[in-house]
Amino acid sequence: MQKQELGMNVDNTKAHKAPPARVAVLGAGGLGMAAAQMLSQKRSLQLVAIADKGGAAIDPTGLSVEDLLDAQKKHKTVGAAGIKTDDSIGAVIKHLGLIDGVFIALPNLDNNFVPSVVRRFADAKYSGVMVDALKRTTAVKNIFQLHKKLQQSRITYITGAGATPGLLTAAANLAAQSYSEIQSIDIEFGVGISNWEAYRATIKEDIAHLEGFNLEKVSTMTYEEILAELDRRDGILKLVNMEHADDILLEIAGTVSREKVHIGGVVDTRNPKKPVSTHVTVTGRTYDGFTSTHTFTLGDETTMAANVLGPAFGWLAKALQLHKRGIYGVFGSAEIMPKFAP
Ligand code: NAD
Repeated sequence: MQKQELGMNVDNTKAHKAPPARVAVLGAGGLGMAAAQMLSQKRSLQLVAIADKGGAAIDPTGLSVEDLLDAQKKHKTVGAAGIKTDDSIGAVIKHLGLIDGVFIALPNLDNNFVPSVVRRFADAKYSGVMVDALKRTTAVKNIFQLHKKLQQSRITYITGAGATPGLLTAAANLAAQSYSEIQSIDIEFGVGISNWEAYRATIKEDIAHLEGFNLEKVSTMTYEEILAELDRRDGILKLVNMEHADDILLEIAGTVSREKVHIGGVVDTRNPKKPVSTHVTVTGRTYDGFTSTHTFTLGDETTMAANVLGPAFGWLAKALQLHKRGIYGVFGSAEIMPKFAP
């Protein structure tokens, strides 16, 4: 078997000259538009489709971020640079032949919404790769239930492929290798954003983790109610013991049972400076009887978007390799190393 067939890029220069993989981004909010921006800087991946609630823009020769931003600014939807429709996901599905990979940046205010979108792709016989940045344990569990269906339609899917879950979960899996027994994995994230409205779904989903809230309640809250809740907390959300999929992703990867994984964080919705440095600590016992803790800390200058999207496209690039090798179905991010996507 050739090294290329095994997914080994022995010559990076050559790999860069290959035509870029064509990517669709579902959702054009904070993460979706940052994804469009990041893709515009990549040689190995090219944005060919993007969808939001009001429509979709599709161009097999590549979309311009400036045009998309302009469409959103003037008409509140990327559809103004393409097609305005109530079913923008359906519009993208009509062009599946043009798409090698899909990044899902849709809200998760209902744990079945993203799985239902993925099911539509499988029902339309899409054969390609998909990655999500889902955070909730239940949503990721629902994606795993689609394993057989996605295998049948030849989709290679990596779930939980953002920052947490994602980058930190995979780092925890790597760090765990020093130990014979893992005692705990603790993730604490810090997010600083100057304008919460740029990341509405992210902030609403975070509020849903606070005492007295849940996804159903938050999904019915009005804009003013969200504003009032943020005001009450001086714009700071302190999150503890979150229902975050890092737990099942590490369990599925065989690293540790889910009860030993704890996730919390602090989100400042009025200041781009991170309120705490995002880190994961992995505590365990070594084969020779020592107890120790490894810590992996992200640089404070890296934004939420950089830490979600870099890994997401790294996993998308990896999924493309697996797909070429005929490996289909659902994989958790902690099971698979992302591949750096130039
Ligand atoms: P957002 O609210 O800014 O944007 C959501 C986008 O989805 C909007 O463009 C909206 O129009 C579109 N949309 C909603 N319903 C749609 C539909 N039916 N069809 C087509 N488009 C539709 O959201 P965001 O803050 O960018 O977050 C997106 C997701 O990313 C959230 O679920 C969030 O939890 C996740 N996220 C993950 C991580 C991580 O580390 N894993 C970090 C941050 C955010």
